[in-house]
Amino acid sequence: MKITDVTVSLLPWGSVFVQVHTDEGVQGIGECSPMNGPVLAHFVETALKPLVLGEDPLDVDRLWRKMFFRTYKLGVMGVQPEAISGIDIALWDIRGKVTGLPIWKLLGGRYREKVLMYASIGGGARMSVEEMVQKVAQYQEKGFRAFKIRMDWRADRQDVDPEKDFRMFVAVRKFLGDAVPLSFDANNGYSVSTAISQGRRFEDYGIYHFEEPVPQYDYGGLAQVAEALDVPIAAGEHEYTRWQFRDLILQAKVDIVQPDVVKCAGISEMWRIGVLAETFHKHFVPHQTQPTIGTAANLHVVAALQHASRPQEFTGERPELNALFREPLRFEDGYLFVPDRPGLGLELDEEALRAVRVER
Ligand code: CA
Repeated sequence: MKITDVTVSLLPWGSVFVQVHTDEGVQGIGECSPMNGPVLAHFVETALKPLVLGEDPLDVDRLWRKMFFRTYKLGVMGVQPEAISGIDIALWDIRGKVTGLPIWKLLGGRYREKVLMYASIGGGARMSVEEMVQKVAQYQEKGFRAFKIRMDWRADRQDVDPEKDFRMFVAVRKFLGDAVPLSFDANNGYSVSTAISQGRRFEDYGIYHFEEPVPQYDYGGLAQVAEALDVPIAAGEHEYTRWQFRDLILQAKVDIVQPDVVKCAGISEMWRIGVLAETFHKHFVPHQTQPTIGTAANLHVVAALQHASRPQEFTGERPELNALFREPLRFEDGYLFVPDRPGLGLELDEEALRAVRVER
């Protein structure tokens, strides 16, 4: 079996879908981070595709190493691992389709048939307290029973308005009641001292996890926050590959690691990071913003890791994206069901994809 082509589709909503084609007609689908579609498409097509053409798609690990180490000097953060993610996920999909098995089965079996998802609600910096409470109410109506509010500050806007952030957290907590898991994401926007004082106040109101309290590259600062507070500290959406996660665990001392399958170099690397997290008894709660292929890939991995037992991130269903698949993921009562079909368990509707893909 040989890889005959790799194609990339950019969608109007920013999504980057990858298809790996073979000489036996089996096709795998994958997805890259949506941060910059044209750049990612160019990387996949010019740097990675020549490395995998003619290769056996079932040699997933060998091809991962070939892609990673042959393009290492093009950057091991950002575009390079994000582009590898698209192809690696598609190779796992092919492996599943060829064997007739879902990916969770290939990873060694699943510990759960459905996964409780938490609603990940962003935009806090731009919103009033009341607007955020309304948004949380809308997600609750969709069936969610665990929540996270994200401020979207970023590292270049430090300590802009922590008082408003605190009022927002308290208002959402009062709206949801004490029993509902509620996490808070500063999106890298606090200094260490603000993060610690803010975290102590959140703890008084019950906080499930405290995410990216300080700039993502400040491992020393993250460690100070993690050591000062009881609430689990989460980070990892800006980390790529097992080696960065090793440092995040050992140097930043986070309690929850959050790789993103469409960023960290695919299912292969996400699995290795999951095993690494278990080795250090860290919680495993991947970051994820892409609700179809990316979320399916993530679901297979978290279903097959026993310690991935906390609610997992979900930004909610997107009808315009679900319309591109014959049987989209099933979301009910706050749970996503882990697909039983071969591979990822998602089948693209080629005609629907052609109708929306952005011409390049
Ligand atoms: Ca986040």
